[in-house]
Amino acid sequence: MQQNNKIQRPQFTPDKNVSGEAKKLRRMIDEAQRIVAFTGAGISAESGIPTYRGAGGMWSKYDPEKFASIDYFRKDPTYYWRFFKECRHDLIAKAEPTLSHYALAELENRGKLNTIVTQNIDGLHYLAGSERVLELHGNTNRFYCLGCSKQFNLNQAWEMVQTQMPVICDDCGGIIRADVVMFGEMLPERTITEAEQETNSCDLMIVIGSSLVVYPAASLPYQAKSAGAKLAIINLDPTPLDSLADLVIRHPAANLMAQAVWLEQE
Ligand code: NAD
Repeated sequence: MQQNNKIQRPQFTPDKNVSGEAKKLRRMIDEAQRIVAFTGAGISAESGIPTYRGAGGMWSKYDPEKFASIDYFRKDPTYYWRFFKECRHDLIAKAEPTLSHYALAELENRGKLNTIVTQNIDGLHYLAGSERVLELHGNTNRFYCLGCSKQFNLNQAWEMVQTQMPVICDDCGGIIRADVVMFGEMLPERTITEAEQETNSCDLMIVIGSSLVVYPAASLPYQAKSAGAKLAIINLDPTPLDSLADLVIRHPAANLMAQAVWLEQE
């Protein structure tokens, strides 16, 4: 793969506390030919989007068990749309990618990284310039009508929610929902099949910001390791797969990833 230099090297001040760990990760990256990154809500925490499970209390007013549940949406779609109007739109629409997102885009650009498999629905990998992204849980910037499948983008949804509650399709009167996998729904089959293929053929999987407790997505790092890949886990809190990993780094990911990708090795 040719390097096309489209990702600008971002400005950052290396945090010396993580330089040693960053070097270890850099060595693994240098030795690898086919990297898959597996990302979760923690990679976007430094963009200001809180994780469901971490501290922060952002989700205390709107409960993820409700706004992200298909059973609850069927009962009361206004709950999701009130959450969208009051919290979600500003939070995700204004979020910028972190150094971690840019670092992964740069690894793709260098021909090192084959795919990002993400549990996130915020679209920040695309915004950072990554092209090969498998979104296991969909994308909260897209919407469609439950009645006729007509599609809507974020701006349309934002405009409609100013005058409607819940938001209704202008063609058929059906309820509009976000194009995300809610609790109680299956993952998109084609996406999970591709993610498994990439997982089975990578030689390094880098997990960034996932508690690795949401299944079936969290089985992929285990599968990568079983198929012979090395496994690096960068996560603030311990995960159930730490004992299997070749490298575990418990530190905020952004500065560390930038050092691993952009600083020269000594
Ligand atoms: P999770 O909330 O279960 O775990 C996030 C992990 O990230 C935690 O273990 C925490 O220690 C770690 N973390 C927090 N800040 C970090 C940082 N700066 N650097 C490194 N690690 C950090 O997240 P999950 O495993 O992705 O599963 C949660 C589900 O919630 C997913 O299905 C996802 O779709 C959804 N979700 C998505 C978003 C988003 O798109 N940004 C936000 C919240 C929840």
